[in-house]
Amino acid sequence: MKKKIYYIQPTYKTSDGVLLKGDSIYVHSLAMPALSAATPHDWEKKVVLQYFDDIDYDTDASVIAVTSMGYDIAQGIEIAREFKRRNKTVIFGGYQAHFSSYLLTDVCDSVIHGNPGPNDMKKILADVENNQLAREYHLGIDINFPFDYSILADKKITFMPVLSSIGCVNDCDFCCTAAVYRGHYKLRKIEFVIEDLKSISKISGKAGFVDNNIYNNRKYLVQLLKAMIDNKIKLKWGAQVTVDIGDDLEVLHLLYKAGCRLLFIGMETLNQENLAGVNKSYKVQSYKERLRNINRSGIKVAGYFMFGLDNDTKETPRHLYDFISSGNISIPILNILIPVPGTRVYRKLKQDNRILFDEEQELLKNNSFYNAACNTCFFVPKLMTAKECENGFMELYGKLAGYSQIIRRSLSIHPFMMAFLLGMNIVFRREYLDMKRKHAL
Ligand code: SF4
Repeated sequence: MKKKIYYIQPTYKTSDGVLLKGDSIYVHSLAMPALSAATPHDWEKKVVLQYFDDIDYDTDASVIAVTSMGYDIAQGIEIAREFKRRNKTVIFGGYQAHFSSYLLTDVCDSVIHGNPGPNDMKKILADVENNQLAREYHLGIDINFPFDYSILADKKITFMPVLSSIGCVNDCDFCCTAAVYRGHYKLRKIEFVIEDLKSISKISGKAGFVDNNIYNNRKYLVQLLKAMIDNKIKLKWGAQVTVDIGDDLEVLHLLYKAGCRLLFIGMETLNQENLAGVNKSYKVQSYKERLRNINRSGIKVAGYFMFGLDNDTKETPRHLYDFISSGNISIPILNILIPVPGTRVYRKLKQDNRILFDEEQELLKNNSFYNAACNTCFFVPKLMTAKECENGFMELYGKLAGYSQIIRRSLSIHPFMMAFLLGMNIVFRREYLDMKRKHAL
């Protein structure tokens, strides 16, 4: 057999059934640079990011490896099925494959759970050669090796992905990360993060940490930021953190000095009972002051909010609008609560007979973007109807998508930042117009 592996990162399909493709993207998953680096040297490899490139179904590779981060799994299944039809050995991995492995029974030979490193890939591919491929591999998390950025070098990716940790110290009920890591995380050796940042610096001026929460471990973060400063990493970058970083003026100062210009923060709700109800322990009252501190340090905030939690009412969108439009949030990221199978929220709602879809595929079909705004209410809210929830959400989105709001949120004294924020806020408006068109159908 030819020792060649063909890696595929599927793209998403829109709810209109159109394959989402383009020649540029804001940020991309890090799965392929990691897998490429983990491949044994005696195996030939080819990597396809379907968002940018077409899949060669006539490849001479003997092994096809599909990875799925979210509901691109629906597209991944179609691809895997086609390769199985062509008698290829197909392996499937990634977050969503872990959650939804039952969907993969007929479409692949093996499902990989966890993050394979070089030793894991060597073992899996040796098993293929020896005709001993296992149906499932339950691996740990190996992220301690430098990733292969050469495969992204010719792609127009605004923020090159980089990783310093995996998992999260928190355990929120609605979160897919929490469903896998249950309040635990793993840190990557700083030398590998720095090596990756140096590789990125050769191909881009901007990076995005794809960690779930770079503030998992303060001591580690301080060491990492100091190493970035000492190594004269000149990248401008963004990352996801928890809101409590807003109290930590020393870390905020180091973040800015190390090039951080944007933090993505999940505030979720302005109702304290809602927050407690999804097992998130922050104080809503602290939000304003913390956001102010972050902005004062020179870093902008993209804020995640969700609607439809148990204490939300038809009045909630008005409170969210007032808070978001009162300053210190440069990019709002909104969605109606998504009860993703595998999470505690899903289990609770299911137990209470409040889930409005029978099959996971229905969720996949109606929310094929998964990571983007979701204006479909997939469950029965407590204090309003699903329709009222959707209408309230659309009203909020519409008000925040107005031009005066967009301009106010995009103001910055740095031309690059202003252009970037404007671009992101225009995407927000486009998403609204697209949802509005579909909502009216
Ligand atoms: S803090 Fe964020 S990443 Fe961590 S468990 Fe909660 S929602 Fe998930």
